[in-house]
Amino acid sequence: MPELPEVEITARVLDAALQGARIAYARAPGINALKTFDPPLSALDGERITAVGRRGKHLTVTSTGELVLLIHLMSAGRLQLYDKAAGPRDRSSRLLVGLDDGRELRLREFGSKQAAWVKLLRTNELDGDDALATLGPEAWPDPGPGTRLKELLDAPRPLHALLRDQHVIAGIGRSWVDEILHAAKLSPFKRGSELSDEEADRLREAIVSELGRALAHYEEHLTLPIPDKLPMPLRVHRRNGEPCPRCGDQLEAVFYEDYVMCYCPTCQTDGKLLKDRRLSRLLK
Ligand SMILES: [Zn+2]
Repeated sequence: MPELPEVEITARVLDAALQGARIAYARAPGINALKTFDPPLSALDGERITAVGRRGKHLTVTSTGELVLLIHLMSAGRLQLYDKAAGPRDRSSRLLVGLDDGRELRLREFGSKQAAWVKLLRTNELDGDDALATLGPEAWPDPGPGTRLKELLDAPRPLHALLRDQHVIAGIGRSWVDEILHAAKLSPFKRGSELSDEEADRLREAIVSELGRALAHYEEHLTLPIPDKLPMPLRVHRRNGEPCPRCGDQLEAVFYEDYVMCYCPTCQTDGKLLKDRRLSRLLK
């Protein structure tokens, strides 16, 4: 669930709280989320955190000693800062970074899937790491002009899939793609290769404004401790059955196995209902 705005605000809040903090220990307890072994986590002992940042939907925690933790929260992870150590009862933490002032940074994961992961890299290895080297350009603050976006999306695949493909453009997921396509008045099933120049400009504007709107909301409402559930300011996603915030007609949904895609027929699909994927293939 955490997408670009949620990861970005997490990075900003933690960056402000952690700059200069000295690391006392780093551990990956339980089922190991750590995907690297050299350098070992103990290399962080005694180093100071210099920055917390974001790349796509990944978090980076950079420290002295030319080390950087690369973290992917996947669908149910959170990186949170606590005043005290978790202790032995904690079962949801995948990574613990204790600070010498007693605070503890924890990568926690909710639900039964254990998918969140961590790599400890040397800073000069970061850009070349597989996870980052294959990312498309950042969706925010600026994915480039409409012409560039049109090139990126020039494939015979539906927009909702292209925009969530991190190799095409980095940062957008299931929640914000609904908001972006609604703001751009584009059908989720329109093919990327069929975008007109004017539609590409509209889409670019919607990406920048919707992700920016989310961040502005979080800047206003979020402080430490970062809550388990972020107050996402969604107007369309998972609001099927409710009135469209633009035209007032009813928002509809397309259901997949494990998620739902929401849209306004009046604003986005010339009034056509997208009942399922089979039907949607008929819509151009
Ligand atoms: Zn509408």
